[in-house]
Amino acid sequence: MADQDLFKKVLSHAKEYGFVFPSSEIYDGLSAVYDYGQQGVALKKNLREYWWKAMVQLNDNIVGLDAAILMHPTTWKASGHVDAFNDPLIDNKDSKKRYRADVLVEDYVGKLDTKIEKEVKKAAKRFGDAFDKAQFLSTNPRVVGYKEKGDAILKRLGKSLENEDLVDVKALIEELEISCPLSGSKNWTEVKQFNLMFGTKLGASAESATELYLRPETAQGIFVNFLNVQKTGRMKLPFGIAQTGKAFRNEIVARQFIFRMREFEQMEMQFFIPPGTQKEWYAHWKETRLKWHHSFGLGAENYRFHDHEKLAHYADAACDIEFRFPFGFKELEGIHSRTDFDLSSHEEFSGKKLQYFDPDRQENYVPYVLETSIGLDRLFLAVFSNALQEETLEDGSSRTVLRLPAVVAPTKVAVLPLVKKDGLPAIAKKLADELKWDMTVSYDEKDAVGRRYRRQDALGTPFCITVDHQTVEDQTVTLRYRDTMAQERLTMTEAKAKISEATAFENWLKEI
Ligand code: ATP
Repeated sequence: MADQDLFKKVLSHAKEYGFVFPSSEIYDGLSAVYDYGQQGVALKKNLREYWWKAMVQLNDNIVGLDAAILMHPTTWKASGHVDAFNDPLIDNKDSKKRYRADVLVEDYVGKLDTKIEKEVKKAAKRFGDAFDKAQFLSTNPRVVGYKEKGDAILKRLGKSLENEDLVDVKALIEELEISCPLSGSKNWTEVKQFNLMFGTKLGASAESATELYLRPETAQGIFVNFLNVQKTGRMKLPFGIAQTGKAFRNEIVARQFIFRMREFEQMEMQFFIPPGTQKEWYAHWKETRLKWHHSFGLGAENYRFHDHEKLAHYADAACDIEFRFPFGFKELEGIHSRTDFDLSSHEEFSGKKLQYFDPDRQENYVPYVLETSIGLDRLFLAVFSNALQEETLEDGSSRTVLRLPAVVAPTKVAVLPLVKKDGLPAIAKKLADELKWDMTVSYDEKDAVGRRYRRQDALGTPFCITVDHQTVEDQTVTLRYRDTMAQERLTMTEAKAKISEATAFENWLKEI
C-alpha cells in the first residue's frame, strides 16, 4: 500500500473495528482529541503494561508513581513551562491556515531524506548484491549534497530557535521557498511564539480562583515527589521513578490523527544519577530503549535516532527515537539528559532542599536526571499502522490482517464452534470460560467460520481455536494462526500451552 493510502486505511480501520473514535463524535468531534473504543482500550492497556513491566517490574531500582494532573502553579514557573513552553507559529495569509514554523522547515528536510531514500533504492537495484549502502551514502555526490543541505538547514533552524531569532526562522522559510501545503501560497505572516499549556481555574468564585494548568508533561509530578519516594522507599542512587498518565498541550497543528493530540498519554521515567555520570547513563538508556522497541518485531529498519540540534532549556544532551510512520520518520520517544535543572529549580522556587546524601561520596548534592519519555498514543499508532496489512492470497482473494505483536493484541484467542448446533457451542463456551482465567478470549458463533476468521484477522487476534465434530469424539481442536493461516490439530491443553507461550511477556521481553 502507498503510504498515503495506508494512513487513510489506518484511520478507517481504527474506527470500523472499535479501536479509535473521534471524541464527542455526535457533535462533530473535537479537533485532535480522540476516544479509544473497546479494542483500542485493550491494546493501549497492553502497551502500557508492556512498558511498565520492562521499566518497573524488571528493574530493581525503578519504582512507580501516580501523581495528580493538577499541580501547584509554581511548578510550571520552576519547570520553565510558563516562560518557555512555546512553539513558533506562522500563518499563511491566503489559506488562513496555521503552521508550526519549525515543522514546515523539518518537513522540507524530510523531503530531502525521501530523495536520498529513492536514490538508494535505485542504486540498490542497479548494483544488486554488490551494493554497499554505507559507501554509496558517503560518496554519491547527489546524496551527499542532499544530506549536507538538510544538515545545514536543521543546524540553522536549531540555532535560530535557541536564540529566539524568529525573524531568521521566517527568513529560512522564505529562502527555501516553502509554500503552504494546502494552497501553495508563499504569503506568510511573521513567526510568533505560542504557549502550549491549557489554563484552568481552581476555586468557586471568580475573584478567589487560582490559575492552574493542566500538566503538559508527567515529568514534573516525579520531580516534586523525588524526596518523598527516595526517603520512604530508602532508594539509593542511581534509581528511577516511572509514571504513566495524561498530559495536555494546546498544539498549534494537530492533523495527524493520534500522532499529535491535545490530550494524550505519556509514559515517562526519570532516572536520578550522581552528577558526572550522565554520559554513560545517556548511552545506556538510548540502547535499552531502542532494544525495547525492537522487541515488538516491527523491523529494526523502521527506527532511527535523531540527535537534537536545539537543546531544550534543561538538557545537556537529547535525542529522539524516530519511527517510520505512514507519513515518514517522526519522533516516537525522547531521551533527555536533563542535568540538575529541574530539581535545582524546584529547590529555588520552593525554598525546600531536594538533595541526596551520597554515602559513597560522603556528600550532599542535587542529583542529575536522565529521562526517557514516550507517548503511548504514538506508540499505539506505530504498532497499529505497522501491523495493518492488505494481503492477496493464493486464490486471488484479499484479506485485511492486523499483525499486532501477540503480546499486546487485545484478544489472544477467539474460540469458535464450527457450526451453531450439535452441541459444539456448549463445548466451545466451556473452553472459552476456562481460558478466560489466563488470557483475553472472545467467543463468536455468528456467520460461517471463514468469515469469523477474517474478522479476527482484522482485529489482530493472533489465534483462533475451532471446536468441531471431532472435538466431541476426542477433545481435540483446531488451532489457527493469524499470520500464516496455518492450522494444527491439538488437544485443548496443547493449544492453550502454545498460546500462552506465544503471548507471554517474558518471551518477548527476554530479548532485551
Ligand atoms: P514533538 O516535537 O513531536 O512536538 P516533543 O519533542 O514536544 O514532541 P516531548 O515533550 O519530548 O515531545 O514529549 C515526549 C513524548 O510525548 C514524545 O516523544 C511523544 O511520543 C509524546 N507526545 C508529545 N506531544 C504529543 C502530542 N501532542 N500527542 C501525542 N503524543 C505526544
